[in-house]
Amino acid sequence: MSIGVNFWVKKQAIRVIIYIMVITSISILGNLKYNEFSNSKVNRLMVINPCQWHMFKNKNFFATNMITTFDKIKNVTSNPMKQKGKKAFLTFDDGPSGNITPKILEILKEKKIKATFFLVGLNIKAYPNLVKREYEEGHSIGNHSYTHEYKKIYANMNSFLNEVNSTDSAIKSVLGDKYIKKIFRFPGGAFDRYGDYKKALKAEGYQFYDWNCLNGDAEGLNVPKEKLINRIKNTVGNQEKIIILMHDMETKKTTYEALPEIIDYLTNQGYEFATL
Ligand SMILES: [Zn+2]
Repeated sequence: MSIGVNFWVKKQAIRVIIYIMVITSISILGNLKYNEFSNSKVNRLMVINPCQWHMFKNKNFFATNMITTFDKIKNVTSNPMKQKGKKAFLTFDDGPSGNITPKILEILKEKKIKATFFLVGLNIKAYPNLVKREYEEGHSIGNHSYTHEYKKIYANMNSFLNEVNSTDSAIKSVLGDKYIKKIFRFPGGAFDRYGDYKKALKAEGYQFYDWNCLNGDAEGLNVPKEKLINRIKNTVGNQEKIIILMHDMETKKTTYEALPEIIDYLTNQGYEFATL
């Protein structure tokens, strides 16, 4: 009887040891893999080590990382305008600027809203840390030419593509190759113009976006806050999808002053915020 019990205890002990060894090996292997890919957000989620399951239990970690990752992949081919329901796309052009962009980022963080920034190459060179911050805080980054000088940009096809490509290089010099989004906003807007340039952009894999709603902050210097809010209310109309044009260049102080009320107004109108 006692021999039988001893044998059973030994057998159980060996089982436990083998079990511990297997778990440890899986965990070590998993860690190696995880570290190998930890520089890449896209790959990180494809390697799940048992020790990191707790992160997946944490809803916020899961939501932020999964949504960011899949959005990045999805946006390469799909059109965000086809999302269901009332959507508002806040867009800020011409930045970053050292004084206005940080204030706008603070408001967006406070309101837990993601926006789209169409950047000018020269300003990317001047404020690389703000570009990094925009990206790391989950906002979408787009191309808005290198110089923003209409005469230069629209001189000819060569000049146009040079403006687009040098801005793309500037963004990649800050964000690295993890920046895969190809979205463009024509300085001054395209609407029914620039057919050849549009074709060239599409051939390069770009999506371009004009706007159908605006705060009017480009219609003068220091346009009063109330006027900006009213311009939004008047241009929203009954549109289900609104792409809102705003600017975060250094003279646009009233743009960030009006932003919290604009966000609240759109939320009350039933819009959800999304990025391009
Ligand atoms: Zn612009």
